[in-house]
Amino acid sequence: MGFWDKLNNFKDKINEVEHNIYTSRKDLMEVYEKNLQLEAEIKERTEELEVANQRLVTVQHIWEMMNSSQPLANVLDSIVNSLQGELGYLFSCIVQKKVDNNGQYLELLAESKCDFLERVYEVLGKALYETRLRWREDADVDYHIENNKIYQSRDVLFSLDYIFPDLPKGMMQDLIKKTGMASYILIPLKSNGNHFASLIVYSSRPDAQAAERNFLKLFSKQIELAITVANLFQTVKDQAVTDGLTGLHNRRYFEEEAQKEVLRAQRQNQKFTVIGLDLDHLKQINDNYGHSCGDIAIKTVADVLKRNARSIDTAARMGGEEFNILLPGVDHVGGLVAAERIRKAIEDVEIDVLGHVTASVGVATFGEHSDNLNELLELTDQAMYSSKKNGRNRVTLANPEDLESWQDIAIDSFIEILKNKKMPIDKSVSERMNKMLGKLTLDHDALYTVSDMLSELYNPNHKVGSSKQKIVVANLLAKRFELSKEDTDKLKVAILLYDIGNMMLPKEILQKRTPLTDEEKELIKTHPVIAAKEILSPIAIVQDVIPIIEHHHENWDGSGYPANASGQSIPLCSQMVLIIDAYFALVESRPYRKAKTKEEALQIIKDGINTKWNAKIAQEFISIISQD
Ligand code: GH3
Ligand code: MG
Repeated sequence: MGFWDKLNNFKDKINEVEHNIYTSRKDLMEVYEKNLQLEAEIKERTEELEVANQRLVTVQHIWEMMNSSQPLANVLDSIVNSLQGELGYLFSCIVQKKVDNNGQYLELLAESKCDFLERVYEVLGKALYETRLRWREDADVDYHIENNKIYQSRDVLFSLDYIFPDLPKGMMQDLIKKTGMASYILIPLKSNGNHFASLIVYSSRPDAQAAERNFLKLFSKQIELAITVANLFQTVKDQAVTDGLTGLHNRRYFEEEAQKEVLRAQRQNQKFTVIGLDLDHLKQINDNYGHSCGDIAIKTVADVLKRNARSIDTAARMGGEEFNILLPGVDHVGGLVAAERIRKAIEDVEIDVLGHVTASVGVATFGEHSDNLNELLELTDQAMYSSKKNGRNRVTLANPEDLESWQDIAIDSFIEILKNKKMPIDKSVSERMNKMLGKLTLDHDALYTVSDMLSELYNPNHKVGSSKQKIVVANLLAKRFELSKEDTDKLKVAILLYDIGNMMLPKEILQKRTPLTDEEKELIKTHPVIAAKEILSPIAIVQDVIPIIEHHHENWDGSGYPANASGQSIPLCSQMVLIIDAYFALVESRPYRKAKTKEEALQIIKDGINTKWNAKIAQEFISIISQD
């Protein structure tokens, strides 16, 4: 081979190598690019997995909530917060359409915590639940709700502007921009087959992809299930007949059985006896040995009752450290024997660490002491109370002369009030009430109905049944402070009458949603008390009650009205009315705020110690409400 041939040959080889290098580089590039693609895909899939995982965690969260038998409000709260936290929404809430005298409005059942709301609070100067929110009437939204479809819109400004008409538009725009809200999604929620509420989430993404929408739909099913379970749990709880701590029957069951027993006793002309029993000095036991020892004392008494009750007797824990036993077919002689046997049996038990506990007992017999169940239970209670006063660890038989007369005073007062021509009550309403009052000597429970009816005239948010609840609490409070029967009666009459002066206030002021002027505030502050005094002063039987009512807005620190009285110079019964009124007003809704939960209301009562009321009264009150 000549030189040139060799050279050409060599060149070919170089070309070949070059070509090889080129193709393998190309291969490598392809591999590299594929790798990149794969990496991106893996990243995307990982992200999807993460989202799926978050969704799963959220669903799991809801499951856990469902299994923990929480009240509905807690469940909803947890839902909105987990939605926001885990799925990255900017704000999420559950809203319900409501209607009252002033038209439709929006009630916020739950809202997630977010900076946006903090700013809204700042500008509005009050929390959301204190603001009347507008329900946006929109055919398109209504259509989606009716057909249970997800509604999606980018018009965040329009939606929020509608809900908060009081917020300046500029500020709203600014807020939306700062938070990056790009769209909102409304998901209708059903309960028992009917539209119940809507879940609304505000998102930073302008559109929700199919996957997200599917998830929200699925998630809403979980929420619906959680709502149903929470409601069911509440119903079951309401229907429960057994006391958790002792395994005895509870108050509900006892009351039902007692009512049945009344019917049987009337039909068969038979008697029955109720034994009421209260542990002595349980508070000391709790304080000295701890609450769990207190619980043991309660269980010990329960065991004695179980051992001593015949199969037809009903032994029940009425609440706290109070027990009742219903003895069908037993007269007062038999009742006393049974009561004494039980008292002795309790005293005889030797409890580890604690030693011995005792109980005070009262006995009353249907057909002997009273033919009315409420009266009978009241008499049992009073007999038990006499046992306490006379040294505890003893049995006392009912004394019908102790029978309360406060209901009669209240009935007579209502009748007199209805006669008062100045009262703005419709004739038909007042006639109905008069009719009910006429029948009251037979059934005192109707007294509460009339009282509720009167309260509703000036307070449309008055909860039916709360008059009775207030009386029950007043009674318990009176006992804690060892008030005499006479003072307890006055307190109860005051409880039914203290706000009667509100009837004389102009309706426009009572139902006003916007802030009151100073003048109106003054009117609201002093007028009811003056009016109550004026309304009640012609009624002879309530003269002793008037001072209680007159001072039921005095605060412990002297900041109340009308006398700026402070400390012990405020009548004790007025102090009691103040705290009872405050609590029951808090758990009712008002035109300008939603109802507080029991826990929230009790916190506010705690916060008022030393300013509105003293520590002792607040403590006793909280302990009574907490045991309910
Ligand atoms: P008295 O002899 O006058 O009845 O005194 P007392 O301390 O038993 O009665 P008081 O009504 O002053 O207090 C009742 C106490 O019972 C207060 C409350 O904390 C306690 N208590 C109520 N329910 C329970 C419970 O389930 N467990 C425990 N450990 N204590 C309870
Ligand atoms: Mg006790």
